[in-house]
Amino acid sequence: SSADQVAFFNEDMEKRLLRQDKIVKVLREVIEGKDTESFYLEFQPKLDLMEDKVIGFEALARLRIENLGQIAPDEFIALAEENLLIYDLGNHILLLACDFLQRLQDEGFHETSVAVNISGIQLLREDFVENIQQKLFLSDRIRKPLEFEVTETVLLDHFSQINETLEAIKQMGIAISLDDFGTGYSSFSRLAELNIDAVKIDRFFIGKISHTSEKNLIISDIISMAHKIGLSVVAEGVEDASQKAYLQKYGCDIIQGYLLSKPLPEESAIAFLRSYGSD
Ligand code: C2E
Ligand code: CA
Ligand code: CA
Ligand code: CA
Repeated sequence: SSADQVAFFNEDMEKRLLRQDKIVKVLREVIEGKDTESFYLEFQPKLDLMEDKVIGFEALARLRIENLGQIAPDEFIALAEENLLIYDLGNHILLLACDFLQRLQDEGFHETSVAVNISGIQLLREDFVENIQQKLFLSDRIRKPLEFEVTETVLLDHFSQINETLEAIKQMGIAISLDDFGTGYSSFSRLAELNIDAVKIDRFFIGKISHTSEKNLIISDIISMAHKIGLSVVAEGVEDASQKAYLQKYGCDIIQGYLLSKPLPEESAIAFLRSYGSD
C-alpha cells in the first residue's frame, strides 16, 4: 500500500540522514583535531612519460568511520561543502599534504611534487591566499614543490576573481592544474587567459582510447592545443598499456592511473618511489 511505501521512504530517508549526520559530525571532530584516526590522505603516483620517472603524487582524501566503513570522497567532500566545512577541511588537507612533502624531503626526494585538490568554495573565499600565507608560509609549513588541482566549473562562473587568486597562488610558487579537463565548457582561448600550468584530461576520454579510433583524435588534439598555449598535459585514469602507448605517441607529458598504481598510504607511496628508482 502507499502507506507502506511512505514508511519505507521515511525509513530510507532517516537512514540517509543519520549517515550524513554521522559523517558531518566526524568531519567536525577531524577539523577540531579531536579525531586523528578517521581522516587521512592517500597518494597516487604521477609518471613523467618522457623520463619514465615518478615526478609526484596526487593527494586524495580518505575517510573511514566505524560501522559505516570507507566513505567515498565524492560523498564526504560534497557534505563538507554543503555544511560549510570545506574551507577548514581544505586547510586541514593542505597541512597533511605539507607533512607528506616534508617526509619526501626528509627521504631525499627533493623534486617530487604533491598535488592537492582544491574545492571551488575554497578558491572563492577572499581570505584563501592570505590564509595559506599565514598558516603555511609563516609557520614554514609549506614545502615546494606543491601543486593545486582545480576544476573548471568554478573558473567559468567567476573568471576574473578566480584568475586573480590563481595568479597570487602562482606567485607563491605553487603550480596549478585544471582538473577533469574536457568535461566542462572551457574553450582553448579562455584556457590561454588562465593562470594555470597544466591540464588534466578527464579519465572519461582516456577510457575511450582503444575503443574508438575517431574519438582518440580528440585527445591528440587536446594535447597539441595545450602544448601550443604552453600547458603541460596530464592524463588521469590510465588503466592499460594501450592507453599509455597512445598517450606516449601523441606527446602527453604525464600519466596517472591504476596501470601505474592506485592511491597509496604514505608508507607504501614512499616505498613505491624507492622501488621505481626515481632520483
Ligand atoms: P579527482 O580529483 O578527479 O581524482 C581522481 C579520482 O580517480 C580519484 O578518486 C582516484 O582514486 C581515481 N582514480 C585514479 N586512477 C584511476 C584509474 O585508473 N581508474 C579509475 N576508474 N579511477 C582512478 P577518489 O579518490 O574517489 O576521489 C574522487 C574525487 O573526490 C576526486 O576526483 C576529487 O574531485 C574529490 N577529492 C578527493 N580528495 C579530495 C581533496 O582532498 N579535496 C577536494 N576538494 N576534493 C577531493
Ligand atoms: Ca584531482
Ligand atoms: Ca580529475
Ligand atoms: Ca573528478
